[in-house]
Amino acid sequence: MITKMSAPCAASMKEAAQLINQGEVVAFPTETVYGLGADATNEEAVKKIFIAKGRPGDNPLIVHITSVDQIQTVIRGEMPVWAKKLADAYWPGPLTMIFDKGDRIPSCVTAGLDSVAVRIPSHKDARNLIDAAQKPIAAPSANLSGRPSPTTARHVFDDMNGRIPMIIDGGESDVGLESTVLDVRSLPVKVLRPGGITPKMIADIVGEVEVAGSVMRPLKEGETVLSPGMKYKHYAPEGSLVIVKGNQKKVAEAILNMYDATEGEKCILALEGNLKNYPGKNVFSLGKDPKEMAHRLFDALREMDARGVSAIFSEAVDAEGIGLAVMNRLGRAAAFHIVDAGE
Ligand code: AMP
Ligand code: MG
Repeated sequence: MITKMSAPCAASMKEAAQLINQGEVVAFPTETVYGLGADATNEEAVKKIFIAKGRPGDNPLIVHITSVDQIQTVIRGEMPVWAKKLADAYWPGPLTMIFDKGDRIPSCVTAGLDSVAVRIPSHKDARNLIDAAQKPIAAPSANLSGRPSPTTARHVFDDMNGRIPMIIDGGESDVGLESTVLDVRSLPVKVLRPGGITPKMIADIVGEVEVAGSVMRPLKEGETVLSPGMKYKHYAPEGSLVIVKGNQKKVAEAILNMYDATEGEKCILALEGNLKNYPGKNVFSLGKDPKEMAHRLFDALREMDARGVSAIFSEAVDAEGIGLAVMNRLGRAAAFHIVDAGE
């Protein structure tokens, strides 16, 4: 299959919407990461997403719509009042909410679960595509299963060339990490996957919020999986990755020791302000703060692969605010190999 990459003009959006309505899969930009979309009401189309990604069938997809009025096609019953308040505050935006699944959504979208994940994106190209197709669009991130999520059309092309007919190139993703996944079926609402909408931002609207324990550690044996995506080794670069946390000076010392003791192609991922702590070493900037780090992280991990790096040492950030989402992704990419250099 030839994979066409198109800028988001009127003609290409029309073509993309036609492909969706013919049961094909199209990659499109969103404010979080690029999505791999198909008609969420068409079982055969949705199956093509799993095939294109090599995604296990027990990992559910997020259904994207453009307005709360459309949610009745996707969920069963009414939205809880607290979910309406969250929708007023953060939709459109990087928040996915879990509801009871409606009958029009085939069970392959939700991997057999009786719940469904719904998001209203803010990215104009994502919205135009959904509106032009006039269908809810099921879409996971547009990477091959296990690879870092794509934050540029080039990343999508690297993974999906020959597997899908079309990629809409809308430039770099703004947030750079996938949406916050929040179970809103009962109170307190529960963060299953951290993202751009932080626990504090959620608590500001509904008072109380829980964060699933598995966000900052690997799953225990036999533990029930609340967010199926958390089960898999995720976001992993090809090289080994170690994260070092603690006092900045001790972190730099520990990283330099490990770096010097390692053979082969190696690289240090550090915040911009700390690059000076690694003179003469191979370093890559993660930006000036956790927000920039969120924006750059997946690109940095892909860049390590492109450079053939076999050992990566990364600084940690505080798991607070957007830092929680950054450390969740970085932690998973490192299979939670986190060294504490001390305070
Ligand atoms: P992706 O967009 O590739 O990150 O995939 C969507 C993620 O959303 C999945 O990996 C799940 O972790 C989460 N998700 C989707 N549907 C549900 C659901 N019904 N219940 C819990 N988590 C879900
Ligand atoms: Mg994904």
